[in-house]
Amino acid sequence: NDSAELKALDLAHHLPAQADYALLEQLGGSRIITHAEGCVITDIDGKSLLDGMAGLWCVNVGYGRSELAEAAYKQMLELPYYNTFFKTATAPAVRLAAKIAEKMVLSNPDLKHVFFNSSGSEANDTVFRLVRHYWTLKGEPDRQVFISRRNAYHGSTVAGASLGGMTFMHAQGGLPIPGIEHVRQPYLFGEGFGQDPDAFADACVQDIEDRILSVGPDKVAAFIGEPVQGAGGVVIPPQSYWPKVEALCRKYGILLICDEVICGFGRLGQWFGHQHYGVKPDIIAMAKGLSSGYLPISAVGVSSHIVEVLKTGGDFVHGYTYSGHPAACAVALANIGIIEREGLIERTREVTGPYLATALTRLDGHPLVGEARSIGLLGAVEIVSEKGTNLRFKGAEGHAGPVVRDICIKNGLMVRGIRDTIVMCPPLIITEAEIDRIVDILEASLNEAEPVLRA
Ligand code: PLP
Repeated sequence: NDSAELKALDLAHHLPAQADYALLEQLGGSRIITHAEGCVITDIDGKSLLDGMAGLWCVNVGYGRSELAEAAYKQMLELPYYNTFFKTATAPAVRLAAKIAEKMVLSNPDLKHVFFNSSGSEANDTVFRLVRHYWTLKGEPDRQVFISRRNAYHGSTVAGASLGGMTFMHAQGGLPIPGIEHVRQPYLFGEGFGQDPDAFADACVQDIEDRILSVGPDKVAAFIGEPVQGAGGVVIPPQSYWPKVEALCRKYGILLICDEVICGFGRLGQWFGHQHYGVKPDIIAMAKGLSSGYLPISAVGVSSHIVEVLKTGGDFVHGYTYSGHPAACAVALANIGIIEREGLIERTREVTGPYLATALTRLDGHPLVGEARSIGLLGAVEIVSEKGTNLRFKGAEGHAGPVVRDICIKNGLMVRGIRDTIVMCPPLIITEAEIDRIVDILEASLNEAEPVLRA
């Protein structure tokens, strides 16, 4: 049947992303996903799973939106492609830039220019070059150092993975490239266990300031961070963290960059995650929820004060064949239209986000759960070996997470295990009944995992 054939072709020819190829061989090939509707994905063998990850943190409006397929079809018939290199643009690209600007100025009136790319990684590569170029043009060519955080994820390209703070990624390919410093992450459960959240936030911010001073304040170009670290394990910072980071950036004249690739387009109950924390970044990167993953597209939002400097430098020699791809832009516009029309931001902020938070409290008493936390529709469950501590099974990170994740998947819930943190990020259209199902499956799976982990 097709299933056996496709799995054999997968093993013979296809190298999936971030995969252990030897393990895939043992498993007999990848799970082939064939269709999806709403919040449910189905594989070629007929197994359906509730998609607790919105694909890969991206299918914000859910699956099966024929409106988005029609937007792509219509645009492809009219003009499938044109570039933005020849002093040219297309109507969808221009309209999408204006639409994104409308959402960015809600928090920062100066943030109203948009540069397009195709992925979150490319967006961060754009940020990297643009910022360094900006400081050079501004007459401060020594300001080239980026400060990022340990366990940050900013993509898989050379600049993206270097900006990111995952040491196991750095170990592959000789990264990071020079000029990137990684400081403490505001991970209260893991690194500030039992501490007062504000005191912990102060210590994290102090670490940034110490690094600025050791690098030399006149050498630091920018600070970059995800409002809530996603792939790092849904690290929700104490509420006081971001305003203090912003104040530090202003104190030393450093640009503030928010990577909104996961947090953008409603995830935290605002158009952008930084709007939840009340800060005004100079630059933001976005992707994923911008098109709900229906076509690849990303964007970098840039403040006018930066664009004014870029104007003094002639061509900014940076761009991609698919920058402003008209079909992707048309789909993104239609996607934002759905988010607006269905009030998905407000619904996340006022209804489903609080509902998830309450539902997760059902896990608080579970012997394996060290903490269950969420913000908007982004959640995490910390698995510990001893209740009331943050100790991990076998005294090391990464043993329990995959066990619980695999049992959840077997039981019909697609989640991700990041070290020992089970993370979830469902489509923003999720219903209260589906949220209950997520938590029910999590609870049953934790019960099933406990004897396995304690054996
Ligand atoms: N930045 C963040 C915060 C991300 O979570 C991701 C992907 O997960 C990226 C950047 C990279 O995006 P992409 O996979 O589209 O290159």
